[in-house]
Amino acid sequence: MSDQEVLEIFRKHSALLEGHFILSSGLHSDRYIQCALVLQFPKVAEQLGAALASKLGHLDAAVVVAPALGGVLVAHEVARALGVRALFTERQDGVMKLRRGFQLKEGEPALVVEDVITTGGSTRETMQCVEEAGGRVVGVGALIDRSGGAVSLGLPKAALATLSVHNYNPAECPLCKSGIPAVKPGSRSQK
Ligand SMILES: [Zn+2]
Repeated sequence: MSDQEVLEIFRKHSALLEGHFILSSGLHSDRYIQCALVLQFPKVAEQLGAALASKLGHLDAAVVVAPALGGVLVAHEVARALGVRALFTERQDGVMKLRRGFQLKEGEPALVVEDVITTGGSTRETMQCVEEAGGRVVGVGALIDRSGGAVSLGLPKAALATLSVHNYNPAECPLCKSGIPAVKPGSRSQK
């Protein structure tokens, strides 16, 4: 599946919007990605998971781990394609943890996947959880790398599509300066 084919699937489901957006961080952006709108269709989720698995399968992972919530379905579908387990980490008092009795074997090879890589922060936190549990991270993946490929995690990395998304402080936002109205995706102002 090419980058363009993947982005076409996202556009078709209104999961990739182009324009002028206010992100939850308060920054303004020229693009907005909402993977849940694509992943709500199990057949599409399965197809995307299989495509990502085909890029990471050579790493022979025995388990796929993702940060909740955004990564859960991605891990599940990649793991389905690889025939391995899918686990997730979640925040407890702000700290990413492997909970619910999930365990890794000593040295067990693991993939860490996400829906979207922005800064790589939650991927790194999940990698740390895997290592603390005794596992060994052999590669990372995401449906979309919106860092333009700039995030390096020191391991093999795969994404179905790579995008350069511009984020701006509101005071310096060129989209504001050009008078384009800003919308908060997911809120009523979008309608
Ligand atoms: Zn703006």
